[in-house]
Amino acid sequence: MRRLLLPLLIVFCFAAFSVIRSEPAPGAALDAEVGSTSGASWVLGSRVAFAVVFLLAWRLRRGRVAWAILALAAVCEGFGPATRSGARADLYLAVGLVLPVVLAVLAWLREWWVISRAGWIRGIALGLSGAATYAFTLPSAAPWLEKARGWGRAPAVPQGEPTTQSSMSFSSRFGQWISDLGLGGPGSGGAAGSGLEIAPAVALVWIVALLVALLALWRKRTPIEAGMVGVLIASALAYARPDQLRFFAVACAVVLGAALVENAFTLAFHDGLTGLPARRALEERLQQVGRHYSLAMLDLDKFKLLNDKHGHEVGDQVLKLVATRMRGVTGGGEPFRYGGEEFTVVFAGRSAGEAQAHMDALRQEIAGRKFVVRSPGRPKKKPKGALPSRPSTITKELKVTVSVGIAERSAKYSTKDEVMKAADQALYRSKKAGRNRVTIAK
Ligand code: GH3
Ligand code: MG
Ligand code: MG
Repeated sequence: MRRLLLPLLIVFCFAAFSVIRSEPAPGAALDAEVGSTSGASWVLGSRVAFAVVFLLAWRLRRGRVAWAILALAAVCEGFGPATRSGARADLYLAVGLVLPVVLAVLAWLREWWVISRAGWIRGIALGLSGAATYAFTLPSAAPWLEKARGWGRAPAVPQGEPTTQSSMSFSSRFGQWISDLGLGGPGSGGAAGSGLEIAPAVALVWIVALLVALLALWRKRTPIEAGMVGVLIASALAYARPDQLRFFAVACAVVLGAALVENAFTLAFHDGLTGLPARRALEERLQQVGRHYSLAMLDLDKFKLLNDKHGHEVGDQVLKLVATRMRGVTGGGEPFRYGGEEFTVVFAGRSAGEAQAHMDALRQEIAGRKFVVRSPGRPKKKPKGALPSRPSTITKELKVTVSVGIAERSAKYSTKDEVMKAADQALYRSKKAGRNRVTIAK
């Protein structure tokens, strides 16, 4: 969870830095490069940051990050200079309507690689959204843009007629709220120092995009989705402060770079199926665990049978559900997937006897639970002449038990290999004694 908050922390640091550094006088710094983040070093810095993150995304095969950084670079390079001067209010509005949508869609989509059919299709869609941004600013689209600009603006009220909150539509109430926040709307000055106004419609699109990204983060909980939430916030700040465009562009790149590194770390040290730390992480943990610890080896009972009877897919679901239970192990136990259907729990600073109580509670919790799994209910024979229908799924409730062996580091078992071997032998004794039990190494 902590690692998912990293992008927010980065954006917060950038935002705080932007507030405490000496601010240019409103409007004055737009053309003066010195003192504003449009200075040459920021331009160069943001370009380098974009290039580094793009190469990293390319190497790590994270298509969504690669496209996101390209989209941000395109906005920075292509639209930034045109809108910064305040001359292209139409382009500014169009970017505000399209960019958050692109970022939200990228946050929502599944991971894929650029050089693949899906990758190219998404690339073309991204190119089209860039084209759509320009298309919005064509004379023929002007009525649309005007409509978008006008959305949420208070309608002209005939004099003497009172406006009550209840008589206001959602759009005007939202527009009023945005205006009260000092972001856009009449008289508020709009985006700082640029003379550009943030239309209520843009604020709404940005808020919805952020909610979509948060929902994606809640669903998938990976560093990439967390990074996309950070990018949406940082790019919204860039949008609201066009004079600090390059500064927040660097924030976007740093957030995405950190998300890529976190993602690579997760892939290297975590098991892809269950999400638990994997064997490599276990080995590192055992190097730092100290001299007083216990180690439990846990193995699913008769798992081959379950696989044979219900299929590998159901077996995988059971492994995931067992892993979820293992995360709840008490006594400070740290669970790892050792491999296959075997798991390890490390109890730092605990004796085998103490670990036994916690592992037995976990064993009972698993044995007492019905694991609800879904398996494809394919017909044994293909129905003749029938159109292929959607494969139905059958929900099953399965009972699973586990056997556990525990060993403690002691004079007898002094190295981690010896402790692990002793736990393995104790596990074997649990199996021999009839399974679904916990045994301590002698
Ligand atoms: P025991 O109670 O003695 O442990 O019996 P068992 O059947 O669990 O033991 P065995 O080691 O013979 O079988 C382990 C099986 O676990 C073999 C393999 O099909 C299954 N398995 C290992 N890894 C995975 C996996 O990632 N997914 C699935 N679905 N099955 C796996
Ligand atoms: Mg096994
Ligand atoms: Mg087994």
